[in-house]
Amino acid sequence: MRITTLVFLFLGFGLTQCLEKKTPADLIIKGGTIYTVEAGNPTVEAVAVSGDTIVYAGNMAGLSQYQDEQTKVIDLAGKTMTPGFIEGHGHFMGLGYAELNLDLMNVTSYEEMVEKVKEAVAKAQPGQWIIGRGWHQDKWTKKPEKQIKGFQTHHLLSAASPNNPVFLSHASGHAGFANAKAMQLAGVNQLSVEQLGKNLGEGGEILLDELGNPTGLFNERAQSLITQHIPDDTPETYERALELAMAACLRNGITSFHDAGVSRESIELFRKFKAAGKLNTRLYVMLTGFNSELLYEWFRKGPEVDPDNLLTIRAIKLNCDGALGSRGAWLLEPYSDRPEFSGMPTLSMDTVLKISREGLKYGFQVCSHAIGDRANREILDRYEIAFSENPAATNHRYRIEHAQHLHPDDIPRFGKLGVIPAMQAIHLSSDRPWAIERLGEKRIKEGAYMWQSLLKSGAVIVNGTDVPVEPINPIASFFASVTRQTLKGEPEGGYEPAEKMTRGQALRSYTLDAAYGAFEENSKGSIKPGKLADFVVFNKDLMTVPDTEILSTEVSMTILGGKILYEKK
Ligand SMILES: [Zn+2]
Repeated sequence: MRITTLVFLFLGFGLTQCLEKKTPADLIIKGGTIYTVEAGNPTVEAVAVSGDTIVYAGNMAGLSQYQDEQTKVIDLAGKTMTPGFIEGHGHFMGLGYAELNLDLMNVTSYEEMVEKVKEAVAKAQPGQWIIGRGWHQDKWTKKPEKQIKGFQTHHLLSAASPNNPVFLSHASGHAGFANAKAMQLAGVNQLSVEQLGKNLGEGGEILLDELGNPTGLFNERAQSLITQHIPDDTPETYERALELAMAACLRNGITSFHDAGVSRESIELFRKFKAAGKLNTRLYVMLTGFNSELLYEWFRKGPEVDPDNLLTIRAIKLNCDGALGSRGAWLLEPYSDRPEFSGMPTLSMDTVLKISREGLKYGFQVCSHAIGDRANREILDRYEIAFSENPAATNHRYRIEHAQHLHPDDIPRFGKLGVIPAMQAIHLSSDRPWAIERLGEKRIKEGAYMWQSLLKSGAVIVNGTDVPVEPINPIASFFASVTRQTLKGEPEGGYEPAEKMTRGQALRSYTLDAAYGAFEENSKGSIKPGKLADFVVFNKDLMTVPDTEILSTEVSMTILGGKILYEKK
């Protein structure tokens, strides 16, 4: 009996070896620590790839049968490899334009922002628009002399650029700042603001000074009063922005990207690049809910899951409230620093319910932006109604984008309803120091950035950056996830430390769980035979280096579908 088994084993082994000899791999990677994000097999010594697919992940002993003289071998030389990172919520073209336009993310005062505009004006054509993005008044170390409702007024900017219209988007994307020339072109002045404000209704606000003059600050939908006058891009800049976005992803180890709110034009551009073999970030598209015609067109034809794993369109993005910085987040109780004001919805909750029903009917995932506790609750309520009407639709994977500030009663609802919170850990690092002024201590401690509580409720968290709101760097967001500190490492021990993610959870939130958030966990997100060969190589071991070394970790190499598309020189 025993001998027979041995014979069979021997024969079996010989047979497999013989069969696999016939299909040697195209690529072998070994020589470092390889984290698989597979529970039963968390690290392996080597990986073999055939075409764009992983064919082996295991120890060195099992590797030899995949290698012949044609096989390319990458020696990690002690470096660390993980599955390719997945940006779970960003704006792909926004990333491209952030690379093209003025980056105001790091300015530390109004004066410095104006200096940057001055430099751009010097290089611009007469009358050309100056576009910038990323400023945040709460990050400024020096406060502007004059402020209206917490924001600077346009005069300094207007003096620096009298002839070139300027529009500078807030880091949150929920407010914008214009100079006098831009407002003149848009017909926004003391006499017109009352009527313009009425036309906007609840969804937007033009800030005014004590004399009723516009201050240059436009909240939410009011931004369109200015932005509609910014000339359309040329096809060349549009394509250039896409190329820059893909390059930024590869540089940062991002192999897949969930694009939160995509227009018809962008889809056309993505298709064009894919057809030309130039699309080298895997895109998961959420159609923009701002265009209901587009949504219904897609409802009629149904979702499009790409067999080439490059361009999948099966989700819808709804924008339900604003951001905390501009006090646009919709809260259950008023802002601590603006009593009697609780923010506002930017979309009717009837629409959220209607689209939630349609999504279940036509097979589209609904992803709703909600920052404030009221917005989160109202959306969970609408999702719950739609789910209860469709008990068979258990694999809906509806998401709430940001899920940033939650009432404690709503935290367990995510796990219970199977709603995915798509959260951007880096927002804690940037916002937590001032968010407490908006929300007060109780709301911050009980309901802000509640990662561990959500995980314990059974929720699957998708991580990301909301680029271009934050830089796309996943290492910074990983650092925030596990330390709950600012990028300066403050405070010691982190904010609300019980809510930290473990390193394992943080890695999953950027890989396998992010893939789950797009119904793609069977094809990506972990290193396992049969899955796509998307990898990122880091110069340090993100899973074991001390917290203080995480931020200095760099991406050494990015591999997409078995091809090295980025290598740090
Ligand atoms: Zn976003």
